[in-house]
Amino acid sequence: MPRGERPRCPFCGSTETELFSLFGQQLLTAQYYCNRCHTPFEYIKGDDVLEDAKAKLTSSEE
Ligand SMILES: [Zn+2]
Repeated sequence: MPRGERPRCPFCGSTETELFSLFGQQLLTAQYYCNRCHTPFEYIKGDDVLEDAKAKLTSSEE
C-alpha cells in the first residue's frame, strides 16, 4: 500500500477511511473507520500504518 493510501472498507469497498485507533482487539490490528458507511473495521497493521500514526503525532506536537 503506497504511503497516504487508505485501506479499503470491507463492507462498502470505499477508500474513504481513516485511522481510528492504533490498537484493535488484536495486537497486530489497527482500527479504521469508514466515512462512507460509518462502520469501524480492523485492519492488519503494517509499516505504512505506523508511519501514518507517527506523522499524526508529529504534526500534533508542532
Ligand atoms: Zn464502508
